[in-house]
Amino acid sequence: MRVLLIVPVIKVGRMAGQFAKPRSDPFEEINGVKLPSYKGDNINGDTFDEKSRIPDPHRLIRAYMQSAATLNLLRAFATGGYAAMQRVTEWNLDFVENCEQGDRYQELAHRVDEALGFMAAAGLTVDHPIMSTTDFWTSHECLLLPYEQALTREDSTSGLFYDCSAHMVWVGERTRQLDGAHVEFLRGVANPLGIKVSQKMDPNELIKLIDILNPANKPGRITVIVRMGAENMRVKLSHLVRAVRGAGQIVTWVCDPMHGNTIKAPCGLKTRAFDSILAEVRAFFDVHEQEGSYPGGIHLEMTGQNVTECIGGSRTVTYDDLGSRYHTHCDPRLNASQSLELSFIVAERLRRRRMSTQRL
Ligand code: PEP
Repeated sequence: MRVLLIVPVIKVGRMAGQFAKPRSDPFEEINGVKLPSYKGDNINGDTFDEKSRIPDPHRLIRAYMQSAATLNLLRAFATGGYAAMQRVTEWNLDFVENCEQGDRYQELAHRVDEALGFMAAAGLTVDHPIMSTTDFWTSHECLLLPYEQALTREDSTSGLFYDCSAHMVWVGERTRQLDGAHVEFLRGVANPLGIKVSQKMDPNELIKLIDILNPANKPGRITVIVRMGAENMRVKLSHLVRAVRGAGQIVTWVCDPMHGNTIKAPCGLKTRAFDSILAEVRAFFDVHEQEGSYPGGIHLEMTGQNVTECIGGSRTVTYDDLGSRYHTHCDPRLNASQSLELSFIVAERLRRRRMSTQRL
């Protein structure tokens, strides 16, 4: 007998609040001029001059207003009819039309359409909220503590405190010290939490951190987001998985193949190679398959626009193309074609994992 394990997909966007950026270097130097680094739009500006780099508290108010407006828009899209399954053929992104990914998307959308037509013919309503709305959650790094603290409220019915700046918040690779302020803040709020983990994380330290943040071992509370590049992933992830399992801790494992794969292009711009991103995703799936654990999700930085920020993909972006549509202030994102390409590869891998234990 074959048992199919089908679990709901939880969609979490790093949006409506993802403004503060951790920087490895507090200063940036160009042509002998040294200025404080750009720290995200809710702190200072990215223009390379002294004035822009001075932190401006008014930016916090603007970040809050913009987050509220974004949430309103998301809510309207998620519940106002745009998310209806019948519209699947209209969700396409303009610039992936007439290319391999666009064609594959259209083909998939038509199959969904046919299935909906069949359901309607069989008398099943496609107007049910399950078919016409979706749940969408928001998340960002809990970095700027005074901002997060100002948005924390006590739920009077449960007595629990929630950081209301997002549904889920995460502690970054650079601020996850066991005795640090960020961990101290996060252990006091009841939101679902993410922990970013690079190859520097020691398995025992991870167990201690999870224990501090989730002493009751509540399922769903902790998502461990690993970001270490494919090579490290193949060596280090199994040690982390075994340690966490050995300690009996319940976590969701998620792969962030973006932050361990940032490189500097010859022109000086930060970029990420599609192949390295894909290699890390594959390593993540392989290790979980070996360990008998579950690859729980993928954390990407992407846009539906036709940007040229990450190199590679089947509609190849080269180093020379980077300058043409490089719109990010900080982190290079996959464009629509690269995102769809990755999604199809992941979907195929999941389909195979469900059907057998075959490798990609
Ligand atoms: C991020 O996700 O924006 C980020 C900076 O991640 P990390 O803490 O893993 O470097």
